[in-house]
Parts: sequence; structure tokens; C-alpha cells
Amino acid sequence: HADTALYRVKAQGRNNFQFFDPEMQSTAQERMELEKGLHLALENNEFELWYQPQVNDADQIIGAEALLRWRHPQNGVIYPGDFIGIAEESGQIVEIGNWVLKRAINQLSDWHQQGLPESFNRLAVNISPLQFMQVDFVDRLVEMLNEKNIPGRLVELEITENMLLNNFSIASNKMKLLKQRGISFAIDDFGTGYSSLRYLRDLPLDILKIDRSFVSGLRASSELAAIVEVIIATADRLDLTVIAEGVETLNERSALMELGCHCFQGYLFSKPMIPDVFYAKLQAPSHSSLV
Ligand code: C2E
Ligand code: MG
Ligand code: MG
Ligand code: MG
Repeated sequence: HADTALYRVKAQGRNNFQFFDPEMQSTAQERMELEKGLHLALENNEFELWYQPQVNDADQIIGAEALLRWRHPQNGVIYPGDFIGIAEESGQIVEIGNWVLKRAINQLSDWHQQGLPESFNRLAVNISPLQFMQVDFVDRLVEMLNEKNIPGRLVELEITENMLLNNFSIASNKMKLLKQRGISFAIDDFGTGYSSLRYLRDLPLDILKIDRSFVSGLRASSELAAIVEVIIATADRLDLTVIAEGVETLNERSALMELGCHCFQGYLFSKPMIPDVFYAKLQAPSHSSLV
């Protein structure tokens, strides 16, 4: 399975699991430990969502992406790059993903009641292929929204190109159903997977997220600039919003703006924050976050 192989390469490439006993040699044993750890993490409520703002060119917060963190009792905060791949392979991502959706919607409900600024459009949640392909995914999500009385327009789902590869028609049907509830869809890391222009034509998409690999060094590379320009022009013609990911410098932001991109996410504006800190920032009289 192509996705699985990709995740495995990614997971290994980042020198993972150093937070476990360094004497553990075997990958199989590491995996078992990690799977056990993930099981306990769900049971003991060790997962958290942090929130990273998405801003427009007036520095207003127009949305946020919910990002998963694991607060391990011994090893501190563990980032998704160190466990999502294994969770996908073991299937635990389904249960973890359900937890993520529930947490995100509960959070949204609290903030909705406390008040969201008018500029705030949506909360984006990352959805794993395996999670999205569950037969009850649509019903489950709709039920969560109903239960909390949250309008679907406040929710955006981030999916990846690779997910569509083997599951195009199923994915497309689910998207259409959720679309009817007002939920919007973003393609995450756009341009890094098995891109097909057919996706843009045939799917009810709203947003393309330009991957950080196209953003870093944009100013210095005319090839990158050409690619980003084509993505933005295509998105414009198809009425899709473009969000640039991983914007770290003013230089990158201005290069993106010159190419017609007006929505950004990245350390330049803010790192992902714990909920209270994010909400305080959201409520701040000026959202100007360039520091
Ligand atoms: P992603 O969805 O592409 O999320 C963006 C990642 O880039 C996040 O890493 C974010 O913290 C990081 N980032 C944002 N701005 C910058 C920047 O300016 N510079 C740099 N260097 N990095 C930046 P994070 O939180 O470690 O998440 C990594 C990946 O794990 C995510 O990539 C997503 O694919 C996956 N992930 C995170 N949360 C979830 C989740 O709840 N469910 C699932 N299935 N996957 C998740
Ligand atoms: Mg994402
Ligand atoms: Mg991304
Ligand atoms: Mg990315």
C-alpha cells in the first residue's frame, strides 16, 4: 500500500522513538511499545490539540489548524511526526482521529459560545486516509456537529492527495455529503503527493494548502516561483482559496503576496498554541502578530 510505505519512510527518516528506552534495538519491539503507548494515551487522555492561526494579508486571524500533540507522562510533548505513521499502520489512527474530531468540535463549541471574531471563518482538522475511509465517518461527524449545534461552515477537513489515489470515488461521495452540511475541504501539502489536476476538476474542494517545501526559498528560486504562480493562477480560476504553509519570513510572505497568495500560516505569525493562549490571541484587539 503506497500510503503506508510513504508513512513508514517518513517515520524512519526522522529518527523516531528516541523517547523510548535507547537500549531497545528492534524496530518490531519499538513499534509494539509505541502502539501500547498510544493505546494508553487514549485511555489516560494524554492527547491534546494545539491551534495555529491562519491569517490574511491584513494579519487578521481567518482560521486555525488543529494540530495533535501527545503529552507523554515521562517524555514530555511528542509531535505527530513521531507517531502518526505508526498509528496509521496499526489502525489506531481511526480511534485517535475520532478523538481529534470530537475534541476539535467541543473546543469550537466553547469558542462559538464565548464568541468568535467575525474574521474567523473555520477550524481545520487533519484527517487520515484510513479515518476518512471508515464507513461511519460522515454520520459520526454530522452527529458530533448536531450534538454541539455547530454549523458545518465552521469546520474544514484537510485531506491529502495520496488519499485520493486509490479511493477517488468513495472519497468524492463522502466529500459531497459533508459539503451539503457546509463543511469545507482543503488539500494539504498540495503539490507534494500524486497530484492530479483531475482532483481539482472533479472534487468539491475549497482550499489548496501550498506545502512549506514550495515556500521556503521562494524568493531565491525562479523554479519554485513558477510552480507557486501556476498553483495560485489555477486556484483563482477554479475559485479555490490558497493558503501558504510554513511561512517563516517576511521575505517569503511578500514573495507570496506578489504571486497573488493572501492567506498564510507559519511561524512568522505564530507557532501552534495551547487552546487558551490561542483564544486570547483571537480576542486581542489587534491581530497584528508580526513580532
Ligand atoms: P500538516 O498538516 O502539514 O501541518 C503543518 C505542520 O507544519 C505542523 O507540524 C506545524 O506545526 C508545522 N509548521 C507550521 N508552521 C511552520 C513553519 O513556519 N515552519 C515549520 N518548520 N513548520 C511549521 P506538526 O504539528 O508537527 O504536524 C505534522 C503533521 O502531522 C501535520 O502536517 C499532519 O500531517 C500531521 N498531523 C498533525 N495533527 C494531526 C491530526 O490531528 N490528525 C492527523 N491524521 N494528522 C495530524
Ligand atoms: Mg494540515
Ligand atoms: Mg500541511
Ligand atoms: Mg506540510
